[in-house]
Amino acid sequence: MNSQYAVSSFAARLADLRARLRAAAERAGRNPDEITLLPVSKTFGTDALREAVAAGLTRFGENKVQEIRTKHQQLHALNLHWVMIGHLQTNKAKDVARLVTEVQSLDRQELAEALQHRLELENRSIDVLVQVKTASEPSKYGIEPDQLPDLLRYLSTQAPRLHVQGLMTMATNSPDPEEVRACFRRLRLLRDEMRQANLPGIALDRLSMGMSGDFELAIEEGSTEIRVGSALFGARSYETQ
Ligand SMILES: *Cc1c(COP(=O)(O)O)cnc(C)c1O
Repeated sequence: MNSQYAVSSFAARLADLRARLRAAAERAGRNPDEITLLPVSKTFGTDALREAVAAGLTRFGENKVQEIRTKHQQLHALNLHWVMIGHLQTNKAKDVARLVTEVQSLDRQELAEALQHRLELENRSIDVLVQVKTASEPSKYGIEPDQLPDLLRYLSTQAPRLHVQGLMTMATNSPDPEEVRACFRRLRLLRDEMRQANLPGIALDRLSMGMSGDFELAIEEGSTEIRVGSALFGARSYETQ
């Protein structure tokens, strides 16, 4: 062996994932640089996060406010960016307003009101993606597509501290790739439709869709951000929603 140090297994998985992202983009005739990776660190502890930071990552998706609070305390000095991707109760708005740089799971007006109020008190603003329900499983959260126009109109006029950048979805768990693809396509078409409304302050450039098991399909359907947990950090020892 003449190498001075071993590449960490995390760095190797990250390189592999980036190669798959690039290949999927090229197959779809897209520029790979237009697709961001959001590493999802939920259930993984500070050792895993430190390895990810050593590999150059600074922005992490989490699905529980309590877990963001703990990790924020433990890793405060690293100045990481926390992105909330999980279902959010309104009574957690205070911590979210304090700790996260972005919420991708905004799915109702009541939550927008609570976040706007808390962000005013913190004198902060955050980016948001509106989560849309494109799958039929009850465990897949998100606003119903037919209610999206009203929520976007509300955000455009009533929630100036929530900077809407796009839409997010979770596809169905079907083994049939065409059913999964249909969810992603639905989100893209909804975005195209909503763009026609030209709502002030509402940007719809970002589409957060695709996870470890389906990100290649999502990229083919126009994803600009894939949220990847297990393919990067390894299998989770317990499942969270
Ligand atoms: C856990 C989670 C992911 C990542 O899932 P993997 O299958 O581990 O890649 C992506 N998005 C959301 C909303 C999640 O909760």
